[in-house]
Amino acid sequence: MVIDSTDKGKPVVIAEVDWDSAFTAVHDDAIYMVESQQYHVDKLDLERKKAYVRKVDVDYYTDAMTYTHVRVIDEFQRKLSCRAIVEHGEVQVVRKVVGYKKIKFYTAENLGYGDVNLPEKDMHTTSYWFTIPRRFLRDLQFTQSEILDGLSGLAYCLHHLAAMILMADIRDIDCCIGDKSGEFFVHHGPNGQNTKAISVPEKVVDETPNKLRLDEFDPTLFLFDAYPGGIGFSQLLYEEHDRMLNAARQLIRACPCSHGCPSCVGPDLEIGLNGKKVSLAILELISDELQLH
Ligand SMILES: [Zn+2]
Repeated sequence: MVIDSTDKGKPVVIAEVDWDSAFTAVHDDAIYMVESQQYHVDKLDLERKKAYVRKVDVDYYTDAMTYTHVRVIDEFQRKLSCRAIVEHGEVQVVRKVVGYKKIKFYTAENLGYGDVNLPEKDMHTTSYWFTIPRRFLRDLQFTQSEILDGLSGLAYCLHHLAAMILMADIRDIDCCIGDKSGEFFVHHGPNGQNTKAISVPEKVVDETPNKLRLDEFDPTLFLFDAYPGGIGFSQLLYEEHDRMLNAARQLIRACPCSHGCPSCVGPDLEIGLNGKKVSLAILELISDELQLH
């Protein structure tokens, strides 16, 4: 329940938010919108399921930053495709909102960051994923952080393509880069867009950027159903793996931008100046060009 307490004497219930959305929409200090009126969230009281807000007029909105961890529970099917191991199955997804970005209206300029401390949320769902053995990545002449950028760019591109192939909403599927053991994960850093950290789940809150090295794990890109139990997307994506990678390759190659843009691998601010180049190099490593007539 979202309660407007602008007028101290007369608190008014202005909206209801479902439990899952509450973590990202009405965390402490979020800007919450109802009928084009902005509200600042003074306090999210999870125990009583109430968010206390007050009317404000600011020139920014907030975007929650979430850390996602995926751990494989069961593998249903597996195949080798070029150099990648492709699988689908059941996974456990742990999500935690760790902070938010303040983003200016119209210019989308980033105005700052804030911390949020909320409990983790856990769900079981189905996922499609593929793993790139580290030895192949080592052969690419890029630094560890460039490879992480390239993987993030690839994840961005495949996430959007998957939604298109499935004719689903982008929010119906989620993605994450980690490894199958559930030990390592790649995150966007909290204080700069293109700094990334690899961390273990238990240490997710204290940032230990680049403490763990890329050559300690085989990066796995997960695309999973965003709903508990899954809604059947993952097997389809598993079957479409080759076609999807090929489409990604053509899309990135054909995009006229120089370093990445929202239409291909994501804005260069998020994936770094070499992100686009590395994404393409990784794709060439793990897919054969299909002959299209
Ligand atoms: Zn582009």
